[in-house]
Amino acid sequence: MPSVPGLRAPHRQQTYAESVTTNSAAPAEPGNRRILLVEDEQTIADVVRDYLLKAGFQVDMAGDGFTALELAASRQPDLVILDRMLPGLDGVEVCRRLRQSMSVPVIMVTALGTEDDRILGLEMGADDYVTKPFSPRELVLRVKSVLRRSIKEFTPEPPVEAAGLELDPASRTVTHRGVPLALTVREFDLLAFLMRRPHQVFSREELIKAVWGWDFGDLSTVTVHVRRLREKIEANPTKPELLKTVWGVGYRFDGRRSETGNARPGSREGGYGRQ
Ligand code: CA
Repeated sequence: MPSVPGLRAPHRQQTYAESVTTNSAAPAEPGNRRILLVEDEQTIADVVRDYLLKAGFQVDMAGDGFTALELAASRQPDLVILDRMLPGLDGVEVCRRLRQSMSVPVIMVTALGTEDDRILGLEMGADDYVTKPFSPRELVLRVKSVLRRSIKEFTPEPPVEAAGLELDPASRTVTHRGVPLALTVREFDLLAFLMRRPHQVFSREELIKAVWGWDFGDLSTVTVHVRRLREKIEANPTKPELLKTVWGVGYRFDGRRSETGNARPGSREGGYGRQ
């Protein structure tokens, strides 16, 4: 592959993302999955599109933010790859507007060294990000990983309820006191993970591994997702009662599971007379 600014040349060394895919029991099936690729640099867009096509995806392309929003509405993509720096409407704004109407997973592409941009992108609802220069192969693996999580499992886990929250993995829906919540793919996964393990503390490293499937990564990704979740599930996000911070350790879900009461009827205690 000729050298393209913004892209990393492929190399033979096995990357973490490759090892994850190799070990994965259920390979993603691109099938007729449709990706919207939003990138104004034509050379990068062409290379990435070729990789996506080779992986079996259908690809729509947009070179600016307004076209991206139009195509997202008309083509209903399964995932959006969104460059942060775009002419007209930038990636962060596109992401924000997408989020108002769709729950489509978004992978944000940012320039290296702009941590604020990256965090802003996550706060606007991106599910993942890659930084330039990136390897197109790694991006494709990241796409498959995000899609795998957003596709319904064949045998979904049972629903879980706690503290007025009802989370159903089969339909990937969450309600809070009966009101549906709009969660992104990773917000849903994070909440599901914590709700199933109430009162256990997890570090950000553990969460990024368990929920994102990364061996390493920017831990602020977890921080931002926790903040976003709190805004959606807490009565007062600045004084969280469900998603607690354990200082110096990590996070803990404190909602009591509502389907399991503490009362234990039928206890033998006192049930038998002395013989
Ligand atoms: Ca750009």
